[in-house]
Order: sequence, then structure tokens, then C-alpha cells
Amino acid sequence: MRERSHRVAIIGAGVVGCLVAYGLRECPDVEVICIDKGPPENELAGTGLNVGPNSLKILRQFSPELADSLQVEGVSLPWESWVAGITDGTVIFDLPLSQVAENAGIRIRWAELYRQLRQPLGDRIRYNTIALSMGYRDSDRLYLEIENQETGIREAFEDIDLIVGCDGRYSQVRSSFFGGSPTPEHLGVCLYRLLVPQKGGLIADYQQWFYNGSRLLSFAIPGDEVYIAGSFPLDASLEIRDNQKTVEYLRQCYTPPPGLSPVCQFLVDAVCEHLEEIHWARVQDIPIVFGDEGGRVLCLGDASHAMYPTLGQGASQAFEDGCYVGALLRQALQESLVDFPALVARLEQVRRDRITFVRQFSREASDSLLAGSHPVAELQAKTQPAFLAKLRRLYQDTPLLAEALTLG
Ligand SMILES: Cc1cc2nc3c(=O)[nH]c(=O)nc-3n(C[C@H](O)[C@H](O)[C@H](O)COP(=O)(O)OP(=O)(O)OC[C@H]3O[C@@H](n4cnc5c(N)ncnc54)[C@H](O)[C@@H]3O)c2cc1C
Repeated sequence: MRERSHRVAIIGAGVVGCLVAYGLRECPDVEVICIDKGPPENELAGTGLNVGPNSLKILRQFSPELADSLQVEGVSLPWESWVAGITDGTVIFDLPLSQVAENAGIRIRWAELYRQLRQPLGDRIRYNTIALSMGYRDSDRLYLEIENQETGIREAFEDIDLIVGCDGRYSQVRSSFFGGSPTPEHLGVCLYRLLVPQKGGLIADYQQWFYNGSRLLSFAIPGDEVYIAGSFPLDASLEIRDNQKTVEYLRQCYTPPPGLSPVCQFLVDAVCEHLEEIHWARVQDIPIVFGDEGGRVLCLGDASHAMYPTLGQGASQAFEDGCYVGALLRQALQESLVDFPALVARLEQVRRDRITFVRQFSREASDSLLAGSHPVAELQAKTQPAFLAKLRRLYQDTPLLAEALTLG
């Protein structure tokens, strides 16, 4: 503990990095060094995402202005219902989110989400900038050397109190301080995503259609576009084979004997038409880490707990992390003497339990994505009280900021 102003480095200005930086933006006596390796416009601009009701709940407590900016007409559409069934059009699960959540979520384009989160931070983010090196000088001081990839200009910082790793799934902070890159656990599922033009309002709110272990997920986003996330099971090799990235393979994945419903026909046709634009990925999660042994490095968001995307909780948990940590850090940094290891331990204690629950729930909910799955039975189970109680916990039991700040 030293009596002086504080220096915090945030590596990565994605969802969680922006929220932590936003929390600290008006802290007197705190120097925040926030870097992102990418340009101001995010490269994932081509896709959309659904942000859970839990994110909007905690964001409204953290910053009503940010919550309002994300819910402006034209920026996002409300996520208010969840329909799931079989690709022949049979609906098994039809849930107004108001039954399990206190507020709606949103459907939004990635680039728009980043624009809204980054805009209030202005030039506080150093874009196109990477960390060349970082580490401990001694037990209570960290260093960081950065380089702007466009200009080649390097800067070195000493006496850093806290490094916050917000640099996503392939986190450099995590590999630097937590013993290398984490070993992912594969679900054995291929996931691909794309955005296509809307067709006569055919797709509206969040919907999922299953056949055997294959799934089509879709919803509309502003700008008359439709987001599609398709999946199919992989064999034991976990490889996505070239013959699976074909129109023939994908059509047979989703087509049941009675044929596709009009909605699923549109989705399958759109996937096949845009085959060349598809980015193919494998569903995986990684073990959870938060604070390092020294107590001065904290991983958040995907760097801490990239998880199976089945419940759409990757970005949503990054929101929870960012709002919670942003608010508590802001409060703590108003003190001249901060015990950083104690603070990191306290943040970890609250977030670890919540993330453990969400990660486990996301794994359980992935049953209908697997080879040999029985979507009718599995979706029926999701209409039952046990699953709905977990959804209520997911969407409602976010950390309460006012309470956390009072206890602080
Ligand atoms: C195509 C796609 C669709 C998705 N759909 C959904 C969805 O519908 N709902 C949902 O909840 N989740 C979704 N996810 C998951 C979601 O993207 C992540 O869980 C979420 O973005 C995590 O937020 P984050 O802030 O931790 O990381 P990110 O948002 O990934 O941000 C990390 C930032 O760090 C920067 N960075 C990385 N490495 C470095 C480095 N070494 N130095 C400096 N900067 C660095 C990156 O440029 C980036 O800006 C999706 C993911 C993808 C890829």
C-alpha cells in the first residue's frame, strides 16, 4: 500500500474493457492506460449478438446513460421472447422473457455495440496498440511496455498498481501471468455465424430450430438484417471437415423427413447462399481464472471465463464483470491507500460463484447440440420448473451494485 495516485492498465477495449474504463473515467488521481490491438471499428462488425436481460439489469444500475444509449431505436431491438422447436416448424418451447426476467435483453450488431461502448471513452483508448511486455518489478509494482502498431511509437510504464486483462479468449494477460494459454474443453460442436438480409419480416425475435444434433438460431437486428448461428455435431476427431462445409452436408443436417418449415427453409437457403462468408469455429470453454497469485492482475470477460455460447452468456457475463468491477474499483480508487490484493480477492469471490453457475448452466443447456440428442424431449425439459428456475436465476440474480458499494 502506497500513498500516491494510482495507475491502472486495461488490456483490451472490448465489452468488459470498455465498461471498466468507463467506471474509472472520472476518477481523480487515477491514470488509466487502456489499449486495444484493433482499430476503433471492431472486426466482428459482420455479425450480431443477443445481450441477456441480466446485462441490461446491471448496466442500468451502473450507468443509466449507457443503458439508454444501447436501447435507442435503430441501435438495438428488444429481446423479449424465446421460441424453440424442430426444423419442420413444430414449436415446443415458447417463452416470453417477462416470465423469467425483470426486463428485456437486446439484439444488436457487434459493430454497433462496440461503437456505443467506446464512444463515451473518446481518446482514452489507445487503438492499434499491443503490449510488448508486462510483469512484476516487485510484489507491489508492475510494468508495461506498449507499442502503437501504426506509428511504431513505444511507451513504457512503471509503478502500475493493477493490470486488468480484458483481452478476450486468447488473452495475452492470461498467458503472461497464469502459466501460459489455457487448455480448452471442446463440446464437439461446430458453430458458424453470419448476417443475411431480412425476407419480408419472416424472422423477428430469438428462435432456435433443431433436427437431431443440428441447430439453427436466428433473430432480426436493426437495419433489416437477420443473424444466423448454425451448429452441427463433430466426430471424435473434433475436426471440421471440408465436406461438412458444403451445401449438401448442411441441407441434410437440418432437413427432417416432412421437410423444412418456411422459416427454416429461408435460414438453410441463406446459409447455403452465403457459404463463402462463413467463419467456422468449434464450441469450447476454458477453466476460470480471476486474480493472479500476486493479487495485482485480474482477468475478466472471455480472458477469465470464455464459455459455451449456448445461452448467449459470453458478452452478457462480460457486461456483468465490467459493471461490477468498474463500480467497485471506482469506489476503492477514491481512497489514497488501496490494498489491491484484498480488493482483487473480494471481486473474485463475488464473480467466481456467479460464473461457475452460468458456465455449468451453459454446459447443461448444450445437450441438444450433441450427436444423438433428442430435441423434443430436451426442449420439453426446458419448459419444466427446474430449467425455468435456473433461467430466472440467470437473468435476475446479478450482483446488486448499490448493496456491494454500501458493503465496500
Ligand atoms: C461472432 C461471435 C458471436 C457471438 N455472439 C454472442 C452472443 O450472441 N451473445 C453473447 O453473449 N456472446 C456472444 N459471443 C461471445 C462474446 O463475443 C464474448 O463472450 C464477449 O465478446 C467477451 O467480451 P470481452 O470483453 O471479454 O472480449 P472481447 O469483446 O472479445 O474483447 C476483447 C478485446 O481485446 C482486444 N485484444 C485482444 N488481444 C489483445 C492484446 N493482446 N492486446 C490488446 N488488445 C487485445 C480485442 O481487439 C478486443 O477488442 C459471440 C462471439 C463471437 C466471436
